[in-house]
Amino acid sequence: MSDLSRSSHSKRWANPAKQASAVSDYLVDNFSRQHTYLRISLTERCNLRCTYCMPEEGVPLTPSANLLTKNEILRLAKLFVGQGVTKIRLTGGEPTVRSDVIEIVRSLGQLKRGNKSSDRLNIQQRYLKSLAMTTNGVALRRKLPALFNNGVAGLDTVNISLDTLNPDLFQIMTRRKGFDKVMESIEEALRLGLPQVKINTVVMKGVNDQEDVLNFVAFTKEHPINVRFIEYMPFDGNKWNRDRLVPFEELIQKIKSRFGRLEKLQDEPNDTTKHYKIPGFKGKIGFITSMTDHFCGTCNRLRITADGNIKVCLFGNTEVSLRDMMRNGRTDQELLEVIGAAVNKKKKQHAGMFKLASSKNRPMILIGG
Ligand code: SAM
Ligand code: SF4
Repeated sequence: MSDLSRSSHSKRWANPAKQASAVSDYLVDNFSRQHTYLRISLTERCNLRCTYCMPEEGVPLTPSANLLTKNEILRLAKLFVGQGVTKIRLTGGEPTVRSDVIEIVRSLGQLKRGNKSSDRLNIQQRYLKSLAMTTNGVALRRKLPALFNNGVAGLDTVNISLDTLNPDLFQIMTRRKGFDKVMESIEEALRLGLPQVKINTVVMKGVNDQEDVLNFVAFTKEHPINVRFIEYMPFDGNKWNRDRLVPFEELIQKIKSRFGRLEKLQDEPNDTTKHYKIPGFKGKIGFITSMTDHFCGTCNRLRITADGNIKVCLFGNTEVSLRDMMRNGRTDQELLEVIGAAVNKKKKQHAGMFKLASSKNRPMILIGG
């Protein structure tokens, strides 16, 4: 029996009504938000240098000995799933550059329901329902079959970041080559039949907000893919500027004037995306409106950075090192107390776009988007 099932856990469940809850109190904040979604950054390294994510000269990297090991990642993942996390997303940096990424995915897949090991491990009868990855796709294609593992307890959702269908602009935005490889990865993900394949497109005014956006919408005509346009967010070193932000409503008008009808689809609870589709097209489009219409009220996300800090808000700079606790021999129960305290301190909402631009935070690549 693990520490988290012992006495102080029962203290957390003193109210019998809570026992029926899908999420333990440790993951519920002061605004009753239940945190069932954990984003784990696997690395700070990346094979691209996207302009909106990191400065041209790169970022100072944490020495590899200070990054979470595979076993530390698994320990934390089990702990969170045992408390009610149902979705884990692996991110970075670029998760596919980590040499043990396939082993990590396979091990995390064992936390899913119906997997023999998860049935043995998961004393709370809580299971992982979704295992996702956000990747730039450059080094993904060859790894995908092993990561997906024919749908057996592996990755079920892949978000591939691609900001343009124009190879020349790709090279300008990412400061690297690799467009063809990303396209091959998208084709491979569709060919393998991953349940969800999404494209993440950060839209920057004067860069990719005109024909590039419309070309992506046209791409959904024949591809059963979900293209999500993300509002450009400010982080350290990305030279964010209000004039570069394209509010999603502007994009909706542009798309309507080119394609005519744009049908609104039902969004899931806790969804950060507003979904639409062009009637008759196979794929969908969506807008992630973090800047002009934030979704803090339904936020269910927690983040673990590659160096092992828990971060309760993408835009908050409060962090606590779970890595140090694990390396100092702390028990799962002690980790849970610290996690619970961090969740409790989560603010109601982020500070608003202008304050964010001037507040201190990590560069996006060091947070794990
Ligand atoms: N390297 C992987 C990738 O690019 O997909 C994973 C890490 S990346 C930091 C995660 C996501 O954050 C990507 O979809 C990327 O486009 C997005 N992103 C990075 N910087 C951003 C910014 N300033 N505003 C909005 N989205 C951003
Ligand atoms: Fe790398 Fe992803 Fe950041 Fe681009 S967005 S530099 S691919 S981590």
